[in-house]
Amino acid sequence: MATIFSLNPAINSGCTNLQIGQVLCLATGTTTATTPIPTGTSSPLPGVQTTCHHDVAITFDDGPYIYNSIVRSNFAAVNGKTTFFVNGNNFGCIYSVENVAILRAAYEAGHTIGSHTWSHIDISTLSDAQTGVELDRLEVALGKILGIKPALFRPPYGSINSRNVAYLNSRGYTVVEWDIDTQDSLGANPGTSMNIVRAQATSHSLILAHETVPSTPLTLTPQIIQHIGTLGARLVTVDQCLDIAPYQSVGSYGTRDASWVC
Ligand SMILES: [Zn+2]
Repeated sequence: MATIFSLNPAINSGCTNLQIGQVLCLATGTTTATTPIPTGTSSPLPGVQTTCHHDVAITFDDGPYIYNSIVRSNFAAVNGKTTFFVNGNNFGCIYSVENVAILRAAYEAGHTIGSHTWSHIDISTLSDAQTGVELDRLEVALGKILGIKPALFRPPYGSINSRNVAYLNSRGYTVVEWDIDTQDSLGANPGTSMNIVRAQATSHSLILAHETVPSTPLTLTPQIIQHIGTLGARLVTVDQCLDIAPYQSVGSYGTRDASWVC
């Protein structure tokens, strides 16, 4: 009704009923939607993991970013673990002093670090060689900073095709999407996100959120954690909920030198 009134300013919007025979201008297309419609599922391509085998994994994309420590505090409070799908150069350069400290703190706290490409690019638009450069640059950075080579990959925007999946598998990656999208990066407020979570969460959900959206660590994440607790599910990393290894290799931290630049 609000939309109808906004499109028909001559109508007295103080009333609650329209008159029989009233000529109206109606909105068309997506402009009629006043709240986001939860999609709830991601690309159902073969070889793409969209749900946990057991337990619940809440995941955070697009960092490392300044709110990461708040996310970690949320999970530490309940002895839970999470997974960060990070970029090399998105909200900031992965080699900055601050971001190196963030990544090491997350890693040492037992959270898993996965790949989300170097530049947060839609890989369905790239050749395998171009995708390879995106993987390479982040692998080099995570090798220097943490000594690890990631085993989990999440495509930016959830955008991926079967050729991408085959290439990522050939590079040793397990492709991970989600079965619940909090829609925090699409502008959903925590209340809307929690309506989605309450409606869709099970004891083996794989939840998409973003550490770069301020209300996600500050408001939404504690509420999701509390709700998952009511389901009696543990909060684990994606590799744990899929029963796979978190990394393709594990070594030791590197020492900053002139190559640590974006
Ligand atoms: Zn992303």
